[in-house]
Amino acid sequence: MKLRFIGSGSAFTVGADNYQSNMILESNGKNLLIDCGTDAKIALFELGYTYNDIDALYVSHLHADHVGGIEWLAYTHYFDDKLKKPALFLCDLIANDLWEKVLIGGLRSIDVKNPKLSTYFKLKMVKKNSSFIWEDTRFYIVPTIHVKAKYNQMTSYGLFFKADGKNIFITTDSQFCPEIIEDALNNADLIFHDCETMKVKTGVHARYDELKRLPEEIKSKMWLYHYNPGKLPNAKKDGFRGFVKKGQIFNFRDQRTL
Ligand SMILES: [Zn+2]
Ligand SMILES: [Zn+2]
Repeated sequence: MKLRFIGSGSAFTVGADNYQSNMILESNGKNLLIDCGTDAKIALFELGYTYNDIDALYVSHLHADHVGGIEWLAYTHYFDDKLKKPALFLCDLIANDLWEKVLIGGLRSIDVKNPKLSTYFKLKMVKKNSSFIWEDTRFYIVPTIHVKAKYNQMTSYGLFFKADGKNIFITTDSQFCPEIIEDALNNADLIFHDCETMKVKTGVHARYDELKRLPEEIKSKMWLYHYNPGKLPNAKKDGFRGFVKKGQIFNFRDQRTL
């Protein structure tokens, strides 16, 4: 199984030789797109993928850098009669909002009575703290604390799975909350953690200086992504594996790539 970052930048990344942090997980010749943000179609094109290379989609939460490209994915599949509907995996707690608050404006006007998510996708809703199976691999959903605003909160649902004998944890978007995701951090052999590197604190992502305080044992298995444009600290020197580059491939069978 291989994980490829079609982009490894923040939501605001533009003109910095990077795209938003979305990934392709490849298994048995099939591709699961992990989040489909505003940049996704361009990032995919640059790496030689088209919409018909995407067999399934996982959605972690509803920020545009994770869902802004879904209308494109839905319509391109819908109007290509050679293709089956892609599978859509997501926590059931965000499914209604994904349709009613994000997608309905663009996707409801077709010649189908009462179109819904399942008009475009083979819908696979997953309960919070539960799991799903894609290509013989079980994926556990790991809720993180992403946005804790005064009047509204947002959870992002990370992924924990076993690939080629290794436990992999992808935080998706998360504040620094090691106590909340402790089990996943401890049990993973490889961690991909979002990391904010800009001066101004948004308060919704783990900051580099916070992650630096983690035990060496955790940092030594951690890659950082979802970072901001500009100069980056020396992550290797600080005990991390490094910052993920756009297009970087992690082949879980090949230790040299991890
Ligand atoms: Zn994001
Ligand atoms: Zn987010």
